[in-house]
Amino acid sequence: MNEEATTEDKKWFGTLLSYAKGSGGRLGTSVVFSMISLISGLIPYYCVYRILDRYIEGNLDKAFTLNQCLAALIAYLVKVICFGISTGISHYVAFNVLEGLRLKVADAFLKAPLGEVYAHSIGEIKGVIIDKIEDIEPPLAHVVPEGAGHILLPVVCFVALAIVDIRVALASLLALPLGLIFMMLTFKLSGRNMTKYQEANAAMSSMIVEYVEGIEVIKAFGKTGVSYEKFAGSIRDYRDFVIEWLKSTWVTMKLAFAFMPATLLGVVPVSILLVGKGSMTVSEMALSVMLAMSMVISMAKIEVFSNGLRQMQYTVLEVKKFLDIKSLPEPGTERRPDEYTIELKNVHFTYDEEQGEVLHGIDLTLNEGSFTALVGPSGGGKSTVAKPIARFWDVTGGSIKIGGIDIKDMKVETLADIVSFVTQDNFLFSRSIKENIRLGKPDATDEEVMRVARAACCDEFISRLPDGYDTSAGEAGKRLSGGERQRIAIARMMLKDAPIVILDEATAFTDPENETKLQESIANLTRGKTLLVIAHRLSTIKNADRIVVLNDGRIEDMGTQDELMERSPLYNRMWQAHTGARSWAAGNLKEA
Ligand code: ADP
Ligand code: MG
Repeated sequence: MNEEATTEDKKWFGTLLSYAKGSGGRLGTSVVFSMISLISGLIPYYCVYRILDRYIEGNLDKAFTLNQCLAALIAYLVKVICFGISTGISHYVAFNVLEGLRLKVADAFLKAPLGEVYAHSIGEIKGVIIDKIEDIEPPLAHVVPEGAGHILLPVVCFVALAIVDIRVALASLLALPLGLIFMMLTFKLSGRNMTKYQEANAAMSSMIVEYVEGIEVIKAFGKTGVSYEKFAGSIRDYRDFVIEWLKSTWVTMKLAFAFMPATLLGVVPVSILLVGKGSMTVSEMALSVMLAMSMVISMAKIEVFSNGLRQMQYTVLEVKKFLDIKSLPEPGTERRPDEYTIELKNVHFTYDEEQGEVLHGIDLTLNEGSFTALVGPSGGGKSTVAKPIARFWDVTGGSIKIGGIDIKDMKVETLADIVSFVTQDNFLFSRSIKENIRLGKPDATDEEVMRVARAACCDEFISRLPDGYDTSAGEAGKRLSGGERQRIAIARMMLKDAPIVILDEATAFTDPENETKLQESIANLTRGKTLLVIAHRLSTIKNADRIVVLNDGRIEDMGTQDELMERSPLYNRMWQAHTGARSWAAGNLKEA
């Protein structure tokens, strides 16, 4: 197939079957039934031959004819039933493999650092998990059992021909080499471009997703924008490519199709000759012609199936890229802290080499039960400090410890258990609001869910939804404001009740009337927890035990509100900007 393929790549088929237990054996059974089916399909020809033979000899009677017809009918039924069983089994296998593969990819994403996930566009990920993996189904369910049958059938036909008359059998191969040469040529030409075809296809589908997702922006800025051009461009590229590709194989493919069915080219004249010489009966000639034609049909199918096989191989290798994403290294043995002080030691962080280092050595200890606030200009690295604590990424230098244990020595699940992380953009799953909150603690009762919802100031807006807590978040999604979504995420966090809570601008969208109440609830429910808050509005963190000022990936200063007001010029400027903005807003409101 492909000379450059590595041995690893060549094992792709076994790898594919390994995604569903017992697939290999089942697929084998399917192949056996498919072969029985195809061979049963030859039996009616033999019956026709027997009838013809008797007829020519002049001793055909009713009973014999009936018997032969019955045999042909039974053989035909066996063919149909076995084919049904074969495809039934192969579809079962295929859908199980698909399921296994999808779960594997989902699992790979879950275990991967966030950075690796973000490195792929949503279009690309969707393309792989939904479309690409789906593409495997038809070839896997059809190509393998039927293809195997169609490879076997010409061989059986040839043997049968040879039994009838070896000279006719050899004659059937006369035009074959010529046809095969063109066939191989077609494969070579189209195979080389198959990868390019798939790439053009992937580019197009990822562009389409981006286009639709960004449609709001595109509408606002008109279709003259870059987006539209990129979108239209990727569709044009795809069209041009497919046309080019088809053109490149047009001639050889037609020639192959012209010569392949030429089994008759040899069989017909040779058998006529033999009949003329009296060394073959007319009925044998008829049988030979029927067998030769069966051969042709199967060989024509092989071409279709081999394309399917290549498609499948390409997809598997493509999906494998996702499966090979490095997951966060996990320790073999479990270590669970019994104390929740967080210690960042000389933490350095780089997203990518080109961009350069973002954190330049952060030393910070968050004592158990303390409230630490992280402030600083936008882009200063606040989120980048917080995220590695939940191990969204691993730090590039230095270490993070919780209760004296390096977080790399904990299982990812353990860390997820002890750290609650609420960010600015909170995702709601398309299940009920109640279930969305319950994610924080799967065995929570409805009362518990409602209690935290009240604490997080969700109660009021939830009661306005058509089905209250049972409204699907997907349905409610469009009506919920950013602030309301954030409050649902906060309720989720409160329910989880983890000993470490990190809020990354988690209340940024909250309106002033709810803000105070929400702050109080958060303060109450996080008492005694190790709390790290990143806040834009400085008024919300002035009670923090310690405020850390982060600028340009370095800690510029830290202390209490009073201390910082006294000595940090940056903090003073930020505070002035904040209160200035507030009084400006208040002034505006009064005027209005
Ligand atoms: P803050 O939260 O203080 O606004 P961030 O930690 O988000 O700042 O960002 C710090 C720097 O890292 C910025 O220059 C930002 O552009 C960059 N950055 C943030 N997230 C990513 C990311 N996922 N990939 C690459 N660079 C990033
Ligand atoms: Mg941030």
